[in-house]
Amino acid sequence: MSHTYDPYTNVIDTMTKAMELGHIDQSMFEILKNPQREIKVYLPVEMDDGTVRVFEGYRVQHSNIRGPFKGGIRYHQNCDLNEVKALATWMTLKCAVADIPYGGAKGGIQVDPHTLSRRELRNLTRRYTFAIAPIIGSDTDIPAPDVNTNPQTMAWLLDTYSQLKGHPCPGVVTGKPVELGGSKGRNSATGRGVVISTKLLLAQQGRGLAGTTVAIQGMGNVGANAARIFYHRGVKVIAISDISGGLYCEDGLDIDTISVFLDQEGALLKDYSAPGIRHISNEEILTCKCDVLVPAALENQITAENAGKLNCSFIVEAANGPTTEEADAILEKRGITLIPDIFANSGGVIVSYFEWVQNIQELTWDRDQVNEMLEKLMTRSFQSLLDVVDECHCTLRMAAYIVALRKLVTAEKMKGIFP
Ligand code: GLU
Repeated sequence: MSHTYDPYTNVIDTMTKAMELGHIDQSMFEILKNPQREIKVYLPVEMDDGTVRVFEGYRVQHSNIRGPFKGGIRYHQNCDLNEVKALATWMTLKCAVADIPYGGAKGGIQVDPHTLSRRELRNLTRRYTFAIAPIIGSDTDIPAPDVNTNPQTMAWLLDTYSQLKGHPCPGVVTGKPVELGGSKGRNSATGRGVVISTKLLLAQQGRGLAGTTVAIQGMGNVGANAARIFYHRGVKVIAISDISGGLYCEDGLDIDTISVFLDQEGALLKDYSAPGIRHISNEEILTCKCDVLVPAALENQITAENAGKLNCSFIVEAANGPTTEEADAILEKRGITLIPDIFANSGGVIVSYFEWVQNIQELTWDRDQVNEMLEKLMTRSFQSLLDVVDECHCTLRMAAYIVALRKLVTAEKMKGIFP
């Protein structure tokens, strides 16, 4: 059950704890508790049957202390301003942890995109872009994909914005198709970052990826790419799930074959079958016995109700905010080590940064260069988290928040308050 708690309260509470634990100067904290700007837009769309529907859209710009606002756009029927505020705040923290020169933002439209035709979706995207055009731009705020949006959505956004400006503006958006100035490796970058995070964590314990068992909740862009890369690195992906339910195989699922099935329009895991595979529920995927559990769906999945029943040694948060505050405390007590979202899923925005740099410099990098740089940046920022774990005797989540907040508060103090 999602939306039984407030993700914005979650992020503010967690920041408050980290400020104390990291002995961070509180004088600028008030500023970080609120976004700099939030807008709500109403988007009329002429539907295929001739009727007119009006959708609600949002863009929240949390902070640009460290650089332009940056963050994805999500299309979801439960999306609301409060959720987008939390997601924007996480982006500020994530970019600070990754040490890339961005602030944080997020956008969304309250819509179930699966109920719209391609034409309706394109027109909705264009109207949303038109509505937020005055506040986005390559130097100001750079959107990207998130839940239920993809390179095609970004292509429509790019075209609409460029039409308004009268010239191509590739740097206004990241995660666009490679043919339109997107970066090689961006589409799989978040999933790749999840695998890199897992590798770094296991290395800490003197273990490698090969032979490790993993369960992944969610087969969107992040879950599907993580599953594929894990599989090719010798990891046993024993369970995966999507909105329709999950698949389980003790010896490991054949991810390549399942990926071919899932690539078909409208394919759902409940309709997949193969010898040795058992169908499991969405609740069972979280509690199945595995080394690493990867929540790669939405917020609020690991809760006080199920945290005591998890059967894993590690959690790698591929989604944003999948663990509630109460669950976090239970996991800590149970000794389950967790890599927090603001580090574990930072691969996406890191390669977004590479994409933006390529656009500004009018250069293109090859895939190996992108992947190597991603691993280098994540390895460096993971070390900064470990240093804080040693210093403050805290969880990796607290360490990530402390690393981010120290950078943000320092930058805020250097700038001072305008006027
Ligand atoms: N939506 C992704 C995230 O939550 C990527 C954001 C971006 O690339 O700007 O991190």
